[in-house]
Amino acid sequence: MSIAFHGAKHCWMNGEIVETEKALVSAMEPIYLGIFEGIKAYVAKDIQKKGSLNIFQWKLHVDRLWRSAAVNGLNIPYTKDQLLEGTRAAIKANGFDTNVYIQPRVWPRANEEDEKVHVVIPTWKFDTLLGRGNPKFAGQRRFMVSSWRRVASDALPPQAKSWANYQNSSLATKEAKRCGYDGAIFLDSRGFVSEGTGACLMTVRNGKVITPPVSASILESVTRNTFIEFIPEDFKIPVEVHDITRVELYASDEAFLCGTGGEVTPITSVDDIKFGEKYPGPITTKIAEYYSDLLAGNVKKRSGWLTPV
Ligand code: PMP
Repeated sequence: MSIAFHGAKHCWMNGEIVETEKALVSAMEPIYLGIFEGIKAYVAKDIQKKGSLNIFQWKLHVDRLWRSAAVNGLNIPYTKDQLLEGTRAAIKANGFDTNVYIQPRVWPRANEEDEKVHVVIPTWKFDTLLGRGNPKFAGQRRFMVSSWRRVASDALPPQAKSWANYQNSSLATKEAKRCGYDGAIFLDSRGFVSEGTGACLMTVRNGKVITPPVSASILESVTRNTFIEFIPEDFKIPVEVHDITRVELYASDEAFLCGTGGEVTPITSVDDIKFGEKYPGPITTKIAEYYSDLLAGNVKKRSGWLTPV
């Protein structure tokens, strides 16, 4: 039997490169107790490094992986540099020369009393929404406010990237599809706007970008933190981090999701209430174009956010 694994023939598993089809564990492994990271490497388009791959915000992602592990009592038996080398080896073993998604996974081994873990780094190709004139970027996306609340941080902390949190996301996504929408926005347990099912939310109102705080049960998103830094510094557009009510969300001029996977995903409407006059909105488009340039290595002052493969 041949399985495509998105073209990823090899992955890094517990310290070595193995064929993905042979990266096997027992069906009894408690994978559901695991944590993970979602990271991307983009092809450089700048003159000097054209064609090489750069990992975006490696340090912030790997630090979050360690935090997620610590919260869940998992001890990663490698250094962060060893994981970077493992990631580079996994990308090279697959011979990737296109944009690559990297998903380090850590979970406890079955029947191990000394809390040993498995650490696996699968990598695969992905299609980007970004790039000037990409028709997918401007696709219509009708969202709804989910009837499911985002997991409360005193129950299942959304700040740790655990698989378990994605059961909550899956319920909201399935409900949205059932109701004929493209996606869902969560409210937190207090009733304030939280985040999407796999990305953070940013809104634009009266020329300002507004995003809910970490205390609104969101994942502390690397993309969100990056945007909070560059939007005011590089565009002189203010970013406010504060609670948003459902009605404030409806009253936004623009709204988009931001995250490693979703990059910048414009939203047309929530609960069939449309945002603004132009879709995708001008500030959303400006951010997406700049982010795309930055990922391609074309924004020199931000090149410190890129780690060569
Ligand atoms: N929230 C959730 C629930 C997510 O799954 C993700 C994707 N990791 C994000 C936010 C965005 O986080 P990041 O920018 O670090 O990818």
